[in-house]
Amino acid sequence: MVSADRIYDGIILGAGHNGLILQAYAGRANLEVLAIERRAEAGGGLTTIEHPQGSGFLHNTHAFFHRALTQMPWYRDLDLERRGVRYLEPERNVTLILRDSRTLSWWTDLERTMDSFAAFSRKDADALRRWHDEFRPIVERVLIPETGSPPLTAKRRRELLGRFEKGRRLLEVSRLSPLEFVLREFEHPVIQAGLLFFNGLREVDLRVRGFGHHIAALLASPSKAQMAVGGSRALARVLEVAATELGGVIRTHTTPKRILVEKNCAVGVETTDGEIFRARHFVASSLNSQQTFLELMDEEQVPKVWRERAKAFGYNLLAPLFALHLNLKEAPQYRALEHVSVGEKPFIVILGLEHVDQFPEIVRHHEAGTIPPTVMWGACPTLLDPSQAPSGEHTAFMWEKLPYRVRGDPTRWDQIRDGYGREMLDLWTHYAPNLKHAVIEGFTRSPLDIERDLPNMRGGDLLVGAFTNGQIGHDRPFPGAGSYRGHLPALYLCGSCCHPGGNVTGLPGYNAAQVILADLGLEPDWAPPPVEEHLRSLAGQ
Ligand SMILES: Cc1cc2nc3c(=O)[nH]c(=O)nc-3n(C[C@H](O)[C@H](O)[C@H](O)COP(=O)(O)OP(=O)(O)OC[C@H]3O[C@@H](n4cnc5c(N)ncnc54)[C@H](O)[C@@H]3O)c2cc1C
Repeated sequence: MVSADRIYDGIILGAGHNGLILQAYAGRANLEVLAIERRAEAGGGLTTIEHPQGSGFLHNTHAFFHRALTQMPWYRDLDLERRGVRYLEPERNVTLILRDSRTLSWWTDLERTMDSFAAFSRKDADALRRWHDEFRPIVERVLIPETGSPPLTAKRRRELLGRFEKGRRLLEVSRLSPLEFVLREFEHPVIQAGLLFFNGLREVDLRVRGFGHHIAALLASPSKAQMAVGGSRALARVLEVAATELGGVIRTHTTPKRILVEKNCAVGVETTDGEIFRARHFVASSLNSQQTFLELMDEEQVPKVWRERAKAFGYNLLAPLFALHLNLKEAPQYRALEHVSVGEKPFIVILGLEHVDQFPEIVRHHEAGTIPPTVMWGACPTLLDPSQAPSGEHTAFMWEKLPYRVRGDPTRWDQIRDGYGREMLDLWTHYAPNLKHAVIEGFTRSPLDIERDLPNMRGGDLLVGAFTNGQIGHDRPFPGAGSYRGHLPALYLCGSCCHPGGNVTGLPGYNAAQVILADLGLEPDWAPPPVEEHLRSLAGQ
């Protein structure tokens, strides 16, 4: 138990993976940092639960597909493999199964993905190769360094990118929306749909200009979706071990009531239980803008313009997920994959997506708060990692993007949730008929359940804030707050409402650590060169 009046070097609000990463790097700099977490466990979206308790069936109720995780700089710096986490990157990474049992697959091997594309369109397979080859250096030399560094202002970034050919090409492709990019560069409606799935359903609004490069970047990215052996919580546990071995303290079941401000400086936190924790050097919030600037700070402590901008910080319309989790006697056996060997079974399976024209319809339903025709995707983790279920048995899940507000009211989910789960199971069984007799039991989670569990994911937005032009890079969460620094000395942000945004990348925490330690004069030896310097070197100056 921590005594109520302890003083720490720093305090972090929220012990999700971003908070833990910041805590571990601060520990490496010999700072003793406290992380305050409202839930029973640290890890945030890295959650694995046993359902029912004691059954041995493990379910990852939030983040499961961790893209390029093992390539992340903090994964290496914090020595996480040595601390016990292990990742798998299945070769047949994603398969879209059509109603007529044709499949479109993305492999870790580009040639095999091209073969799969070519079965639909030779021209699209060639386009894939072209974009892969052209964007690979852009991803490696520009986009990866940009996401792992505190961002430049949009103006400065444009100036620097405009000075070299690859930078100019990136700016040119970015000007399109993902939808425009896909319709212009690929011809087959199934391939167009599959490509937009990655962006349109999983990340940015596919209609928004400024994100045309996202799909090209995904095609060129050297790493695909990965999963942690033992479930996503395995990553949370090693981050927790790293943070605490480096001197950090994690306080669970603790909710901040307000950030303490003295002499115009953030100096600590008062909890809802009335405890006071003081910070010598910083208070960093991994929560969202509204929580940090409106709920945890008195009105007079935040300038009006910051309050207005924090209030206006917007969330993704298409981000909320509905989930159906199953305990199974056997793994789903897809009719379309009957003749595929176990080693070549797909990791991510997409069902219900047939044509690019489904996207506008899905968006319309989200805007109206109604349920769209089902497009769902998921996995059977136990095919790859039997430790997540009792011997010989399996777990599987499907996710669908569904509106947070059903006809205007999120609480309707509590009435319709289980019925909707049964409808999903019916559709799933159409593709994998053995589910009819394989299901032991299941449970569902609605977009409202996401917000209840992790209130920083407002409106069920698992990316903790929309990716629109006003909320990216140096303007994320909003202009003035995009450098991880708050409006007061010693106040910082370190969560997914900051650049580069949500998902399990750990980069908001990693970038915040660079800023905080540099502000304290503790130049971190692990930090990459400033992105400005890096882009100037690409421009040959
Ligand atoms: C259903 C679902 C599926 C997802 N799937 C994927 C996926 O496959 N791949 C992927 O990369 N990402 C996925 N995500 C998104 C990913 O989980 C998040 O983007 C990521 O967890 C954000 O990390 P974070 O550290 O910024 O915030 P979080 O992980 O949310 O951590 C924030 C922490 O702050 C705590 N907190 C919140 N409010 C308070 C408060 N008032 N006081 C104290 N503590 C507080 C929370 O309990 C939490 O522990 C998914 C999310 C959901 C919900």
